[in-house]
Amino acid sequence: MSARYKYEEFTWPEIREAVAQNRVAVLPVGTIEQHGPHLPLVTDVLTATEMSHRAVAQIPSEAVLMPSVYYAFNEHHLDFPGTISVRGETFIQYVTDIGRSLAHHGFRKILLVNGHGSNVPYLDIAARNITNETASIAAMIPWWNLIPKELFKELRESEYPGGMAHGCELETSVLLYLRGDLVQMGKAERDIPVKRSEHFYWDLQAPSPVFFQEFFSRYSRTGTLGDPTKASVEKGRRFVEAVTERMVKLIQELRAREIDPRVDHH
Ligand SMILES: [Zn+2]
Repeated sequence: MSARYKYEEFTWPEIREAVAQNRVAVLPVGTIEQHGPHLPLVTDVLTATEMSHRAVAQIPSEAVLMPSVYYAFNEHHLDFPGTISVRGETFIQYVTDIGRSLAHHGFRKILLVNGHGSNVPYLDIAARNITNETASIAAMIPWWNLIPKELFKELRESEYPGGMAHGCELETSVLLYLRGDLVQMGKAERDIPVKRSEHFYWDLQAPSPVFFQEFFSRYSRTGTLGDPTKASVEKGRRFVEAVTERMVKLIQELRAREIDPRVDHH
C-alpha cells in the first residue's frame, strides 16, 4: 500500500491508514480557459496536475494526490470561446469544502497546487479558511513560484516584463514537454500588448506590484500574453524538473511542520 498515492483509488480503510501515516493531501487546482490559438483549454489543469503527480510519485508514503479541480474563477477570459468561469464566492467555498472534508477525515496537512494565475487570491482565501475553520493547516503554491531565479536567468529568452504571462514562453515550453501532442506551434504567436506602462504589466517571473485585472480582450489580440515562439521542449523539461524537485521538498516541509496549540491571551 505504501506505493499507492492516488486518493480516488484508495478504499476507506486505506484512507484511514494514509491519515495515520501523516500524509500530506496534495490538491491540484487548474481552470478551463482559453490559452491562445496554440494551447488547449486544459493547460492550467494539466500543468498543476502533472507537476503534483510527479512530486507525489517520488514520495508515495508521505502524500496522497487528490483528483484535480478543473473549474475556477475566470470572468476576464470569457470574451474568448471555451472559457468556463465559476463565480469567485462559489469557487472559494467549493475548495474550502474539499479541505474541510479532508480535515474531517484527519488529514492535518493540505497543499493546494495552483496552475492558474487568477486563482491566486481565491485559493489564498480558501487555504486560510481551511486553516481557520479546522484543526488542519492548508497552504497554496502557484507552481511557477517554485522556479529558481537562476533558472529563469539561464533559460529565458523573451523580454521582461511581458514575455511570460499566459500561453507564453514558460507555459508553452512546459506543455511541449508534458503533452507535445496538444501544442500547435505553427499557430503560436508573440503577443505582448503595447498597452503597458510602468505599473501595468503582466509577467509570471515577477509580477507588477499593482493588483489589477481587466478583460483580457482589451489588451490581448490572440488570447496569448507573452512570447510562445521562444518555447522549447528542453526548456519545458528543465522547468518541470526544477518545480518537481522543489515541490517534493515543500511537501516534506509541510508534513514535518508542527501544529502548535493556539494561545488565548484574553
Ligand atoms: Zn495558464
